[in-house]
Amino acid sequence: MYFQKDIETMPRADIEKMQLERLQRLVKYCYDNVPFYHKRLSEAGVCPEKIKTLSDIQYIPYTTKADMRDNYPYGLFAVPQSKIVRMHASSGTTGKPTVVGYTANDLDHWSDCVARLAMAAGADENTIVQICFGYGLFTGALGLHYGLEKIGATVVPSSSGNTEKQIMLMQDFGTNALVATPSYAQYIGELAREKGVLDKLQLKLGLFGSEGCTIEMRSAIEKTLNLFATDNYGMSELNGPGVSGECRERCGMHINEDHYYAEIIDPATGDVLPRGSEGELVVTTLTKEGMPVLRYRTKDITKINYEKCACGRTFARMDKPKGRSDDMLKIRGVNVFPSQIETVLMSFKEIAPHYQLVLTRENFADHLEIKVELLEQYSSLLDNFPALSELHAKITKEMKIVLGIQTKLTIVGCKTLERFQGKAKRIVDLRNQ
Ligand SMILES: [Zn+2]
Repeated sequence: MYFQKDIETMPRADIEKMQLERLQRLVKYCYDNVPFYHKRLSEAGVCPEKIKTLSDIQYIPYTTKADMRDNYPYGLFAVPQSKIVRMHASSGTTGKPTVVGYTANDLDHWSDCVARLAMAAGADENTIVQICFGYGLFTGALGLHYGLEKIGATVVPSSSGNTEKQIMLMQDFGTNALVATPSYAQYIGELAREKGVLDKLQLKLGLFGSEGCTIEMRSAIEKTLNLFATDNYGMSELNGPGVSGECRERCGMHINEDHYYAEIIDPATGDVLPRGSEGELVVTTLTKEGMPVLRYRTKDITKINYEKCACGRTFARMDKPKGRSDDMLKIRGVNVFPSQIETVLMSFKEIAPHYQLVLTRENFADHLEIKVELLEQYSSLLDNFPALSELHAKITKEMKIVLGIQTKLTIVGCKTLERFQGKAKRIVDLRNQ
């Protein structure tokens, strides 16, 4: 099902023609209306007339998170306050957050993008959806909220937390779709099972986002909650969710290419890589008025497939990000993505989808300890030393093959590790202590 079929199935050549027109208009708009970009573009010798083809975008300097912080709060806005109808901000873990301002048109385009991914996932006007993201400055909850209302779904803005009440509402309202982080979805499933009401839930669809999740982890959650889940992608600097989202084929997330122009670059050198390469995703907002962004470095490592999808959509598809270049752990000189560890763990049927990574430094060398939980039905393994040792050895061996480094594995009983109601915090880095 499509929300805007004409756009979502446009021939590739038409998409690129539209992107070029929009890019040319955007560069002029930024040059004329945002002093920061006027200066940046002038310094790089880029006047708007220099953009003659899509590949000319390479002459434009990148925008980074640091640029956004340095221009806090309004320095990147292109319109006066009177045109801004909403503000959001990203969680600033260190110092000031990054602020985003939206015009009425921006909100309209944003909700179109979310509406598309919701329909591509199978939502429609018969969907009753509980949004279990925290409402507030964070873009996830309101982003999904307006997009789902736009397709006529019934939205239940239950926000995050108070999980027992969430489960009661799910039963009473006949909720059939869930918006949550994958880790919170898993927690809801566990609690519902504990309460003996898991089979009373009528969930059919999960729209997961806001944190990375491997396919293996998602399958585990689908099994627990008995639903079909898709992933979507976005970030507050680029409106919020809705940059891309999966269709039912689940072979990559369709990028809303009429609103976002995506590139893949080498994160070390900044060079644009050929189509199909893996690297850092860079996104330009083609239609934003309030706070347009030229070539934003997302730090997410992925690759893009430009072939037409079996679903009929022609918009390019990006892989689930392998991880953020920021999240990449450098352990004894080896690059390790938490997603690689998750994939290994989830391939063992005895292991629950909960884990923690603890990094320490001893004798000037990094050590990685992986703590994992057994599923409840395998709890008895803790009393069966030979069987537990065998499982321990198998996982450790597989981890060594995949990561290329030795790790320490600790298997703990079920419900030992911390649970999360929002984004999971699975990495504990004690190396600088
Ligand atoms: Zn598709």
